[in-house]
Amino acid sequence: MAVERTFSIIKPDATRRNLTGKINARFEEKGLRIVAQKRIHMSRAQAEQFYGVHKARPFFNDLCTFMTSGPVVVQVLEGENAVAKNREIMGATNPANADAGTIRKDFAESIEANSVHGSDSPENAAIEIAYFFAGSEIVG
Ligand code: UDP
Repeated sequence: MAVERTFSIIKPDATRRNLTGKINARFEEKGLRIVAQKRIHMSRAQAEQFYGVHKARPFFNDLCTFMTSGPVVVQVLEGENAVAKNREIMGATNPANADAGTIRKDFAESIEANSVHGSDSPENAAIEIAYFFAGSEIVG
């Protein structure tokens, strides 16, 4: 299996409850290395562009309001099969449907405030990483 990188966000509901360390431990315990990380307050424009694929969805405005409601931690995670592995560690979008032991099952507050984002494909991972990080900020 190839070593790959994925993009992750620890969302405002999780930073507010001081869960950054607990969530990072989940990644590290499962073999993902945090090779870049910074805490930022996303602008409305950044959130709207980042979630642009969901622009026509009914939840788009509320989602952008939520994502700009407090600090987020943007990250690059590296490891074998990192994109799929992170999606497993995260669990289903709706915490009610997430498997036991996943981040969203254990920490998410709702389908919107679901604690983490993770890229859904290697192609999107590359786009999302480049949106938030310069190459020099990623140290593998
Ligand atoms: N979301 C929401 N309502 C929904 C579906 C999604 O608020 O009915 C939010 C939720 O925060 C989710 C994000 O929109 O993580 C992006 O949705 P997507 O379907 O891409 O889910 P993900 O890839 O994050 O699991």
